[in-house]
Amino acid sequence: MDAGFPARIVFASGNRGKLREVRRLLAAHDIEVLPQSEFGVIEAAETGTTFRENSLIKSRHAAAATGLPALADDSGLVVEALGGDPGVRSARYAGPDASDADNVDKLLGALEGVPPGRRAAAFRCVASFVDPALDPAQHPPLIGEGEWRGRILEARQGSSGFGYDPVFFDPVAGRSAAELDAADKNACSHRGQALRALLATLGQRYALR
Ligand code: IMP
Repeated sequence: MDAGFPARIVFASGNRGKLREVRRLLAAHDIEVLPQSEFGVIEAAETGTTFRENSLIKSRHAAAATGLPALADDSGLVVEALGGDPGVRSARYAGPDASDADNVDKLLGALEGVPPGRRAAAFRCVASFVDPALDPAQHPPLIGEGEWRGRILEARQGSSGFGYDPVFFDPVAGRSAAELDAADKNACSHRGQALRALLATLGQRYALR
């Protein structure tokens, strides 16, 4: 990696599942990822209406609060039969303090009686990166996007991962996201795709510095 490439970045999320996956992906590039909670940063309010807006709100907030290069991931599950819900509200689908289990229960309830052929869904992720040491007019935030298509199962399968993983079925892998090990999930997931796209632009920027 180029000498100017950041060796240490702050991750604008308190989600342990996301942090595990992001750390694994960036460790291969010798980038250490520290959660914003280690700097006492409180999560920004996600007031945007798109994954992109919320991702930028989070990365800008963490960069401003810590003075470090910041990475954010805004992601969620988009279910066709529910008109795109839970979407940007995926983390809070069953209420402001909802657990993963609450959210999955609500999703299964909302899709009760919907046949397998009409349970199409996709995970989406927009990763963003802000370096507060650079002039934003010349170096706008970097963005990477990913989408992972599948369908929602009628019951949970598997115990790995987090969030909606046990009910998200990947037809290519032939398994739920919670039946994939961490490396296999990163290879196909929305987050893996978004971070690989972001890393490609990051590589161009820092090689140019
Ligand atoms: P946010 O990006 O913090 O607004 O929250 C994203 C939410 O979407 C998570 O809390 C999960 O409920 C869901 N989500 C995002 N990515 C995944 C994933 O890889 N597996 C399962 N659920 C996910």
